[in-house]
Amino acid sequence: MLPILIIAVLLAVLFAAAFAVSLIKIRSLTNASEKLRNIDQMTGLYNRDGFITEASAVLKNVSAAGKNAAVVIFDVDGMGKINTLFGAEVGDSVVVGFAATAEALCKGRFLCGRVDTDDFAVLLTYNNENEINVFISDFEEGLHRYFGETAVMERVDYLAGVAVYDGCDDIYTLYNKANLCLLAKESKVTWFNSDMEQRMVENELLRTEMLDALEEGQFELYYQPKISFKTGAIMGVEALIRWHHPTKGFVPPNAFIPLAEQTGLITRIDEWGLRTACRQILKWQEQGLPPVKVSVNMSQAQFYRTDVVTTVTNVLEETGIDPALLEIEVTETMAMQDIQRTINVLGRIREMGVSISMDDFGSGYSSLSSLKTIPLDILKIDRSLVCDLDENEVSKQITGAIVDLGKAMKLMILAEGVETPEQSRYLTEIGCDLAQGYYYSKPRPADEITMLLLSPEMMQRANKK
Ligand code: C2E
Ligand code: CA
Ligand code: CA
Repeated sequence: MLPILIIAVLLAVLFAAAFAVSLIKIRSLTNASEKLRNIDQMTGLYNRDGFITEASAVLKNVSAAGKNAAVVIFDVDGMGKINTLFGAEVGDSVVVGFAATAEALCKGRFLCGRVDTDDFAVLLTYNNENEINVFISDFEEGLHRYFGETAVMERVDYLAGVAVYDGCDDIYTLYNKANLCLLAKESKVTWFNSDMEQRMVENELLRTEMLDALEEGQFELYYQPKISFKTGAIMGVEALIRWHHPTKGFVPPNAFIPLAEQTGLITRIDEWGLRTACRQILKWQEQGLPPVKVSVNMSQAQFYRTDVVTTVTNVLEETGIDPALLEIEVTETMAMQDIQRTINVLGRIREMGVSISMDDFGSGYSSLSSLKTIPLDILKIDRSLVCDLDENEVSKQITGAIVDLGKAMKLMILAEGVETPEQSRYLTEIGCDLAQGYYYSKPRPADEITMLLLSPEMMQRANKK
């Protein structure tokens, strides 16, 4: 009896030990995969989630240790230009250079991470606030050492946002404050101040109001006609969002689109805009009107952070409209951020039969060699060039050159913001195809456009407004 008992006890101990070992293995595997999730693959630094998690733990101990803390976020200034001028590989090496500089400075002292494509955050602990300035100038020196006298060094610069820990903020608030400094772009190094806090509160309010607006149908699309210089006919319309706020009344797009971009809400707004515009195309079709092409503005966030190809496919399927009646407007600056993605995404959208126009052309920083690789149908000359055509000889020359360039690339050329008969005359002379502007018509609600499309005389009257 006794030996059986001993064997049973021994077996139980063995099983328990094996179970414990496998538990430890599972736990360490989970820990390892969690760690991996928190690491940025390209630089080996913490990613945003990793940085926030670690920083939260550091912050808890800071006050107890009688120290001060601050979050500094460094942003690679002009990353888009670097990618455009030198290619994405050089762009990546700049990111790696920033990461290496931050890591070398922080090693063993401070926490750092790559918190966005071209943003690096550091959680500094210090006794004297001046140590923050010293850290930032050391960072600048470090960048110079890393990039040396290379051609890329001439383009490499940074912006920094600094938020000092007030003893009660949580890490999210502190991090957002530093980020807000970067968005404010007040100077090369921007320190958080209470004005920004006020703006942050207002922005937060505006953000929730925009969410309500989406849910409660406060947004509306207006449409601005695009006129053929040759025939005077309406060749299409651009959909432009309008917000009827329940208490503030009319809120212009420039007062909320930039914030919607910053908060990421723009992707929902743009999807709503795309769907609404396509439904309107269908409505005009059902009313028996001649087919009218509608262009929709696409934000940088929607283009880079969402699967726009699928969204466009779905909306086209849902509404069943002819893809040839839809046009997508992307700005020059946005298209140049990542040429490869632009070529790929716009190519796929264009394959469906949708047209592509490049908005605000002439206001950004285009590389002509990149331009010819982008799938495009229309160039829209920026309003800033058109508005001083009457007085400014240089604007005239540039506009002429853009028209020639567009013709050489077999694109249609549209001039935005045409306000006077003189501008209209000059643009006709140089061979511009389409006009959009107050001289012809302001953006109007859909039913007014219906009237314009129904009667050519209305168009005549609209000309005079
Ligand atoms: P945009 O895409 O460059 O649109 C043209 C802007 O110029 C419109 O301003 C239009 O009303 C205005 N405009 C047209 N002709 C004239 C003119 O002759 N003179 C003057 N002074 N202005 C003229 P709006 O509607 O205020 O929109 C401003 C910007 O907001 C747009 O610039 C676009 O970037 C953005 N936006 C508007 N709707 C949407 C949208 O649904 N989605 C996105 N992502 N952005 C939008
Ligand atoms: Ca536009
Ligand atoms: Ca424009």
